[in-house]
Amino acid sequence: MRRHYFDANATVPPLPSAVEAARRASLDLWANPTSTHREGQAARHRLEEARRSIAAALAVPPAQLVFCSSATEALHLLIRGLQPALGSTPAAVFPGEHSACLNPLKDWTAVSWLPEVPDGCATVIQMAANNETGIRYAMPQVPDGIRIRDCAQAWGKVPVDLTDCDAAVFSAHKMGGVRGVGLLWMRPGLPWLPVMEGPQERRRRGGTEDLPAILGLAEAVKLLPERCEAHAALATLRDALETEVLRWSPEFEVLGKDQPRLPNTSALLLRGHSGEAVQMALDLAGFAVSTGSACHSGSVKPSHAVMALGYSEAEARSVVRISMLPGTTEGEVSELLKALKKVVLR
Ligand code: PLP
Repeated sequence: MRRHYFDANATVPPLPSAVEAARRASLDLWANPTSTHREGQAARHRLEEARRSIAAALAVPPAQLVFCSSATEALHLLIRGLQPALGSTPAAVFPGEHSACLNPLKDWTAVSWLPEVPDGCATVIQMAANNETGIRYAMPQVPDGIRIRDCAQAWGKVPVDLTDCDAAVFSAHKMGGVRGVGLLWMRPGLPWLPVMEGPQERRRRGGTEDLPAILGLAEAVKLLPERCEAHAALATLRDALETEVLRWSPEFEVLGKDQPRLPNTSALLLRGHSGEAVQMALDLAGFAVSTGSACHSGSVKPSHAVMALGYSEAEARSVVRISMLPGTTEGEVSELLKALKKVVLR
């Protein structure tokens, strides 16, 4: 059976040029970039070249970028590293942040949920785009607060602007790079301490850099403008899909329909249906989609990101997320609609 992938917000296939760059580096550039011999220095040279080109695409100085393994790691390094200085001062956090951001905040003692901004707010955390709904968010203006942006989901789908923030994180596997590399960007002067100590990355993240994955990321970054254009073209397909689904029942809703959103994402609230059951039925029919729920130790929890928008637990359990890859066709969307209609109107 032909499979159709509509779960791009979970991960995307790596670009062939990124895989090739990583393959070549695995064979030819396996020396440790920290070594001082020629092989190590050749690896170091390519590492710094990649850092410069990725930093140029983000319009930040290369020395401010820290390579790590994932956006989850970048968020942990950032938030845990700020905790000694800021963990007991008021912070304002968007409640729909990814768990990779909320988990390291657990030992922060004065967290308020945006839009509430407590007096003396010293840290603001607001993701650029939500993974489940695709809703895009502006950075709240908080004088004197350190502004943190999770760009994992926005990067590669829409242009990312770092001028209104002080630290941000990124992930390679959501934008066509190979798995195993993330980025932490920090302005200098933040009251931040390293969490993983070691000589690498200017002592900000210990551990031998994954040069093949980093070179793969640098290749994917070269194609970011085309990737964002290909995503922009998806908005028409997304809108057509949503219009059709909304015609089927007055009980159906699209989360964030009138808000600025990622062009590839539709979070469909199919009241009266279990999102999990719909996802499983679509999987059997050949379509990979996801629910707005997260599986924790075998039990499916309703999505906190959906409930943060004011929906009930039952509604959160009825959400199905369709997230398209760049290059998804009208034909594939109409196949998906046919299958979804069979599942929800039977
Ligand atoms: N932040 C957001 C908004 C995400 O969607 C994800 C992954 O789904 C992450 C962080 C974690 O990214 P990674 O898989 O690179 O750890």
